[in-house]
Amino acid sequence: MCTNGHNLIELVDIEKIYRVGTELVRALRGVTLNIRENEYVAIMGPSGSGKSTMMNILGCLDVPTRGRYSLRGHDVAKLSQSKLARIRGRQIGFVFQTFELLPRTTALKNVQLPLMYTQATKKRQRAMAALERVGLSDRAKHHPNQLSGGQKQRVAIARALVQEPDIILADEPTGNLDSETGEEIMAVFDSLHAEGQTIIIVTHEEFIAARCNRVIRLLDGLIASDVQNAETQERRNVKTSKRRNVKTSELFRDSQ
Ligand code: ADP
Ligand code: MG
Repeated sequence: MCTNGHNLIELVDIEKIYRVGTELVRALRGVTLNIRENEYVAIMGPSGSGKSTMMNILGCLDVPTRGRYSLRGHDVAKLSQSKLARIRGRQIGFVFQTFELLPRTTALKNVQLPLMYTQATKKRQRAMAALERVGLSDRAKHHPNQLSGGQKQRVAIARALVQEPDIILADEPTGNLDSETGEEIMAVFDSLHAEGQTIIIVTHEEFIAARCNRVIRLLDGLIASDVQNAETQERRNVKTSKRRNVKTSELFRDSQ
């Protein structure tokens, strides 16, 4: 098992080629990147640059044509279908632009859904706890059409959280929401990140990307840039100096 700070995700020279009739579409043309635990990453890039293709590969919904994908040090290509399905179900939480909630089902039941086919105990309590984490425990009995767009997306985030996944993958989670509601959703992601969750968000909006710690820009199936947000670096420096203080105090204790 990997501890905090190690690579959770390693992509090495990932290519994805789709065949459409006789034509080949090179959606990813050699993507190499590492993502550590508790990173908060925005993926940006124009339409058609390969963002969703990359998310599908990260989420084990699709396999690369070439290249290596390691998740927690395991080569994904070498895993059996059943193990992959387990990873998809347990280790990865998906959030979509269009929420994808079941319409005739309460918020609580929607959140409970990923637990339906598992041996999990206390399913209802776990779903309630997930709703609580997104601030919606008072809407558990509401149906999606009785919820605002932002609330629907919060239910979808709770559903992604209910299995306590290693990674949350969100493909344009604010794409169908106005900017104020987008901020509301980002506040939820911010707090999950503060609790230690690893989050990867595809977005077209600079104000969304600015809240993440790292911004990866794709262009024509390649990484055009990959930068840490300045604020994060500052925070990292603070963390380092805090760590130094701890060490200093330990030294102090030793000398007594
Ligand atoms: P983005 O999410 O950045 O808009 P996509 O990853 O959806 O980009 O698409 C990247 C390229 O791959 C595009 O040229 C798109 O047309 C093509 N593509 C995506 N999915 C498929 C598919 N299932 N079959 C064929 N071509 C696809
Ligand atoms: Mg897309």
